[in-house]
Amino acid sequence: MKPMTTLVEPRFDPHSLNKFATLMAAGNGYLGVRATHEESYSLQTRGMYLAGLYHRAGDRDVTELVNLPDVVGMQIEIDRTIFSLLSGEILSWRRELLFASGELVREIVWKAPDGRCYRFESRRFLSAVRNPLFALRFTVTPLDGEATIVLTTGIDATQTNSGRQHLDEVGLRVHDERFMQGIYRLQGTETDIAISCHCAVEKGATHFSAANRKLLQHSTVKAMKGQAVRCEKIAWIDGHPDQTRPTLAADGLAALGIAVNLGYDALLRESTSALAQRWARCRVEIDSDDEWDQRAIDFAAYHINAMTPFHDERTSIAAKGLTGEGYKGHVFWDTEVFLLPYYLYNQPDIARQLLRYRWHNLPGAQRKARRCGYQGALFPWESARTGEEETPEFAAINIRTGQRQRVASALAEHHLVADIAWAVMRYVEMTSDTAFLQREGGELLYQTACFWLSRTTDVNGRLEIHDVIGPDEYTEHVNNNAFTNYMAFYNVACARQHCAAERRDEVFNAQSADFLARLYLPLPDERDVLPQDDSFFSKPSLDLTRYQAQAGKQTILLDYSRAEVNEMQVLKQADVVMLCYMQPGLFALTTQRANLQWYLPRTIHDSSLSKAIHGIVAARCGERHHAYRYWREGAQIDLGDDPHSCDDGLHAAATGAIWLGVIEGFAGLSIDEGLRIAPCLPQGWHRLRFAMRYQGVSLTIALTPTHITIDATAPLALHVYGKRLIVNGRGCWAIGDLI
Ligand code: BGC
Repeated sequence: MKPMTTLVEPRFDPHSLNKFATLMAAGNGYLGVRATHEESYSLQTRGMYLAGLYHRAGDRDVTELVNLPDVVGMQIEIDRTIFSLLSGEILSWRRELLFASGELVREIVWKAPDGRCYRFESRRFLSAVRNPLFALRFTVTPLDGEATIVLTTGIDATQTNSGRQHLDEVGLRVHDERFMQGIYRLQGTETDIAISCHCAVEKGATHFSAANRKLLQHSTVKAMKGQAVRCEKIAWIDGHPDQTRPTLAADGLAALGIAVNLGYDALLRESTSALAQRWARCRVEIDSDDEWDQRAIDFAAYHINAMTPFHDERTSIAAKGLTGEGYKGHVFWDTEVFLLPYYLYNQPDIARQLLRYRWHNLPGAQRKARRCGYQGALFPWESARTGEEETPEFAAINIRTGQRQRVASALAEHHLVADIAWAVMRYVEMTSDTAFLQREGGELLYQTACFWLSRTTDVNGRLEIHDVIGPDEYTEHVNNNAFTNYMAFYNVACARQHCAAERRDEVFNAQSADFLARLYLPLPDERDVLPQDDSFFSKPSLDLTRYQAQAGKQTILLDYSRAEVNEMQVLKQADVVMLCYMQPGLFALTTQRANLQWYLPRTIHDSSLSKAIHGIVAARCGERHHAYRYWREGAQIDLGDDPHSCDDGLHAAATGAIWLGVIEGFAGLSIDEGLRIAPCLPQGWHRLRFAMRYQGVSLTIALTPTHITIDATAPLALHVYGKRLIVNGRGCWAIGDLI
């Protein structure tokens, strides 16, 4: 395997503290810890989140992912000077996230305002083996003479979600003069979280204090010139979103004791070797002229793994993963469409688990459907733990009028229902898991299809779907959004094919046949362009160049109101192009190309879900140059230079799309009546190599500009550039012979 890349923060910059706290966050699917510095900076937002732990602080609030008490912060005092990089001078700097081990390393030589120099080293990681374990090692070395160093750290429960406190402090203790422990209860519930930690400071004179929601250890060391003073802090953060074990506190102490005996290095080795197995399975190797490409794909896989709650099928992946408070930690269609595919190819059991999250939440979706006057299941646009609708009623406030903007997505962005059915079908096609199809998958297909049967309006004998929002959220309350209608059709067709016979539901059979016969499916016009909805073509267009230059920032809303934007041909994100991506078999490549070209000048890409999808469709159309450009720009949403690109968390869907762009764009993989591959490598890519699973067969695929090589553990039929071929062991083809 090629050596793993790392993510480097090139310099200390107070403007990008939160960007790098997000990009370099640690995560193991159970916990996420933002990469904030040990020393405090007023602009830095600390964050530690336990997957699935949501809470509503007040009646006017929505549930949010709780920001837990902090264990990273440390006050470092040297000869009465508080260490801060905002003073003195940084003589050398290194900060690097090592994707292979998940370890975050910082090394600094700092000249204090009084001219004396110190070396600092910080290393930390979240264990991939012991989910509740976070370990940190901080070392200070005086370089010019002796110094008195005071390190103060522990558990800081003054942490809030932007001022909202969710936790009551119900227990605080120091056990055996060594172990600090805080027990925190989710307000108004019986759910407890136990945070236990131990700090070993060599030769330190230590005492503890507890005040103002902080339990702290203060360690003082007189260090000689060149003597490294090391603080090794191990924390155990244990809890469950909706259960509390009576032994929670004792278990935490016991587990912490074992971890402390093992120590940082052994714990890191254990975690790194578990990660090595994962990397061996999921690594995508890119040999290209620009090393950045390999880093981007490693970054994506690192974070997708960090944000996935492998341990808990009642929790799904949030739109910001476990890296920040953006979108309140809620789950969107982003999961099924942008993140689940990674697991389809890599670890189908996790894809299944993510679908089971929706299956468990069917009752909430059925309740929402009834409330809105429909049948079947209408999944919440934003979902958390319970499966109830969590979308805030209002978004941004107009501070001049005091009026709040109502969020319409929960009322009308119904395509999510079909997106979930689409993900069910992709899982089934990828795995042939008939047991899942008969149970969870079948139920999901049936309930989602029933929703669509009740969602239509009969207009002179034609069934139409009115008053929806498609993926493009700048166009609200329209009729016959093409994406929605085609996806609804697909949803009902799949339900009929896969579960109607078994259910012997005559009413469903009759209604679904009628739906498929009469549902209006808009067709491309004489230019080969599919209307996004009934009114789209009649709206005026606008030169969007300057808004596109600031994509993601929604600057158009500074010049126009939402209502005005709604009346123009302005797309926030891929819509018809999204349909081309999700159902590549629907339209000829010439039609897809025509739609790409027509919608591009009308799309701002103000959503992070847009660029990479354009890149994939461009790659499928053979537009190599555009495909690469959109993939790179999509990857730069978080990785680019903007110092505030992801202050409140990573764009999880865009991260998934980095990976998707490589596999479904450049490698050209798709599932459409079997596995298909039609590579379109960017200029400057010499080799792309990855492993995947299809129908229980393990495949290793290596692509060069001229050849396709596939190793398979069992004979397999697949389509390469549309030609049906059989791989038996190893297949190697010259691309020139196939196209
Ligand atoms: C996008 C949605 C997306 C959500 C969460 C919005 O800005 O328009 O498509 O689901 O962000 O990422």
